[in-house]
Amino acid sequence: MTVGEQALEHNCSLPIRNFVFKVASRCNLACGYCYMYRKGDDSYRDQPFFMDPRVVRAAANRIGEHLDKHGCSDRDREIWISIHGGEPLLYGKERIEDFVSIVREVLIDARFSILTNGSLLDKDWLTHLRMLNVHVGVSLDGPKNHHDLARPYPSGVGSHESAERAVKLMMSTPEGQAQFSGTLSVLDPALPAEELYAYFRKELRLFDFDILLPDHHHCDPPIAGDPPVYGQYLTQLFDLWMEEGNPQVRIGFFEDLLGIMMGKVIPHAFWGLQPLPVVVVETDGGLEPPDYFKSCAPGITKTRFNVLRNTIDCVMQNPIVDMILKPRQNLSQTCRNCVWLDQCGGGLLSHRYSLQGEFRNPSVYCADLIYLMEHVYEVLCSSASFAALFD
Ligand code: SF4
Repeated sequence: MTVGEQALEHNCSLPIRNFVFKVASRCNLACGYCYMYRKGDDSYRDQPFFMDPRVVRAAANRIGEHLDKHGCSDRDREIWISIHGGEPLLYGKERIEDFVSIVREVLIDARFSILTNGSLLDKDWLTHLRMLNVHVGVSLDGPKNHHDLARPYPSGVGSHESAERAVKLMMSTPEGQAQFSGTLSVLDPALPAEELYAYFRKELRLFDFDILLPDHHHCDPPIAGDPPVYGQYLTQLFDLWMEEGNPQVRIGFFEDLLGIMMGKVIPHAFWGLQPLPVVVVETDGGLEPPDYFKSCAPGITKTRFNVLRNTIDCVMQNPIVDMILKPRQNLSQTCRNCVWLDQCGGGLLSHRYSLQGEFRNPSVYCADLIYLMEHVYEVLCSSASFAALFD
């Protein structure tokens, strides 16, 4: 089925199945680019440090009620729960165990993952999370010098040693590898793409490492250039991945773009026009759109809805959630006229933000995205066996 054959907006009779639970509202690192604490949104100060079990139970019940309301049978209740913070391991082993047990009591088909900065992840934690069947991803920005500058402790000391140790620990056993969902890196062109790729592939021998563009928008633009700085960087990274030609090596950011270019239906926040609705449950039970919107303006993710009082469906009234559910309705005229619209989708919504036009703008990374997409398209057209590789 191609993109054109699919409904391009979330059918509101369908349930939302992706939830982010903010179990801890504080972090033990002080990363300079952090949208939670360093982009002007101080609303975390009003949040309880940790999610109370009453909130966990209420949220699980609300999700169960949401699945019922949207007609999900007993065999159709799969949901994905991403455990986040701040730093989610600050929640502690006992609380995490209670969290998973409470949610599973109500939602037996819940799948759990956790994204950690790795600073607290040791053998005990891994065993504990494995027992709970929680997959683990680690934020890791690359080699030591680079990562330490980007992701220090509040003291200024870098966190690379602990993040790398956590990754190596998981890679050291088959069980750990099965539990590991890969690393996530915020790109910085100051680190040559070759060094980043070599670090993940040659040094750590990872097979799954995803990438993110830094949180910028039209009021806070990224570094630009000719050729576009991030476009060139992404293209270099893409070429390194292609040159290696190992289908086991997964970079979700590129895989999903390729899939969409080949006509697959892939809901993705960054690429294409298929909605990927995600609801955040804050530590106090607040229901919110995805947290990366915090990079746009202070308080922008706040809604009046809370699992202690409101249904999950209520949050669909929030203008940001509504935009996510209806990707075609909030495009700029430039994007509507763009030949890359089906592949790009206008870029990540938060990258489109401006004070004047709000979200009806092309992505602030538009030139970078076009640079990358043109290159990927050329590669795709020039390689007959390419499609088979990623089938
Ligand atoms: S952001 Fe740029 S590349 Fe993407 S659809 Fe809009 S105009 Fe096209």
